[in-house]
Amino acid sequence: MIVPFAPAAFPRLDDAVVSAFHQTLSGRLLRPGNEGYDAARAVFNAMIDRRPALIIRPADAEDVRRAVDFAREHGFALAVKGGGHNVAGTAVCDGGLMLDLSAMRTVSVDPARRIAVADPGLLLGDLDRATQAHGLATPLGVVSVTGIAGLTLGGGLGWLNGKHGLACDNLLAADVVTADGELRQASNDENPDLYWAIRGGSGNFGVVTSFTYRLHPVGPVLAGGLAFPPERAREALRFYHEFTADCPEELSTTAGLGMDAVGRPTVAVGACWSGPLDAGERALRPLRAFGPVEDGIAPMAYGALQAANDAGFPPGRRHYWKSSWLIDLGEDAVDVLLRFAAEKPSTATGIGLQRMHGAAARVDPAATAFPHRRAQHELLILAQWDDPAESDRHVGWARAFFEAIRPFAARGVYVNDLGGEGADRVREAYGANYGRLAAVKAKYDPTNFFRLNQNIQPAA
Ligand SMILES: Cc1cc2nc3c(=O)[nH]c(=O)nc-3n(C[C@H](O)[C@H](O)[C@H](O)COP(=O)(O)OP(=O)(O)OC[C@H]3O[C@@H](n4cnc5c(N)ncnc54)[C@H](O)[C@@H]3O)c2cc1C
Repeated sequence: MIVPFAPAAFPRLDDAVVSAFHQTLSGRLLRPGNEGYDAARAVFNAMIDRRPALIIRPADAEDVRRAVDFAREHGFALAVKGGGHNVAGTAVCDGGLMLDLSAMRTVSVDPARRIAVADPGLLLGDLDRATQAHGLATPLGVVSVTGIAGLTLGGGLGWLNGKHGLACDNLLAADVVTADGELRQASNDENPDLYWAIRGGSGNFGVVTSFTYRLHPVGPVLAGGLAFPPERAREALRFYHEFTADCPEELSTTAGLGMDAVGRPTVAVGACWSGPLDAGERALRPLRAFGPVEDGIAPMAYGALQAANDAGFPPGRRHYWKSSWLIDLGEDAVDVLLRFAAEKPSTATGIGLQRMHGAAARVDPAATAFPHRRAQHELLILAQWDDPAESDRHVGWARAFFEAIRPFAARGVYVNDLGGEGADRVREAYGANYGRLAAVKAKYDPTNFFRLNQNIQPAA
């Protein structure tokens, strides 16, 4: 459940109190009307338009600590913005205090130890550039402008998931400002329960001010897309499912469903091979033998692949998403997918099947807070449009699609792709780990101070 911040509860702000607080900060404080206020409160999804009473743009962890103390002591709800990409818009609130972490954007890479220490305002591209300078990378997502913070805390599914797992699986340690204003370390050795919870438990446990990632050698990859003929769309989708069921871990894939000029559903496959290139050519042979009409797979720099999808997701568009996990792709499920692909309300709208497999799927579901550990496709029904007058049409299509595919989907949803869909869906996002998460929440945040998120209620 995303807990709305009730307008009746807005505390009144005394100017002298705010000024005194401002004096304690190294970073910026913005109020409505200040230059930069509107840019800071903007998030990726243009459906979200909220006006915090105060925006703090911390310079460092000490500013974050002070802001948490201030919000708690003055009864403000606190929203936390990393990259601002979450579709539910939980990074911004009406009337409360917003922490905009965008000025905390430093990264240091230790190539000898293969670790990166990253600030929470970094975007994926920032981190990839810093690590790729040493021929290294940590698994992240597939659009380079997304924030590392929200992505990592909710899981983080991308092109390296088969070989190296999710982003959260590669999080070695973090610094977290908890609800009492303490800056704590979370790792296997320090506060291991907190460390467990932030790897999938999203923003429920505090503000992460530093992420330490494990890095892997990632050289040029063999990557790109294959488009299949519309008349073979059904066959292509079934083949894709069978092919990915036992493809090598170095090969991570997505399938995208579209519509051609005459309204027929189309299937395209995106692939990234992250092992030796000649072995990749062999691994891709079956996909190519299936007979694509376009073949854009070629060796490329990993950073170029990471930015290859960016143009499809410009800022300022309206978004409405529905997501679920598909373990199987039987004939009936394929029927639904193809039917709704042919009824897509716009070309900007997408239908994606991102494959989770290999290292990401192998982790014990209880080993981290991210519970959905099995080989499966993450179906993302991603409606995006510009004109507010078209909202009903797009939202209606996504909802109808979701209801139709639901009987074929596993129970559960990826927390990072969840909108404001109610308490049952939030429980599904944390799955079998909800009870343990609620117990950790009760220890570190017993009053549910961090509640503007996909919220876990502290255990009684
Ligand atoms: C275009 C696009 C592409 C995407 N592609 C992928 C993908 O390939 N793989 C994937 O796994 N996901 C993907 N996502 C989903 C993405 O993981 C989520 O949107 C994620 O929330 C983005 O992180 P953010 O920091 O930008 O989020 P924000 O909107 O800034 O934050 C979301 C929530 O995370 C929490 N949070 C953020 N920063 C902190 C912090 N420092 N400390 C504590 N809590 C914090 C807060 O609760 C906040 O409400 C994509 C999203 C978009 C819009």
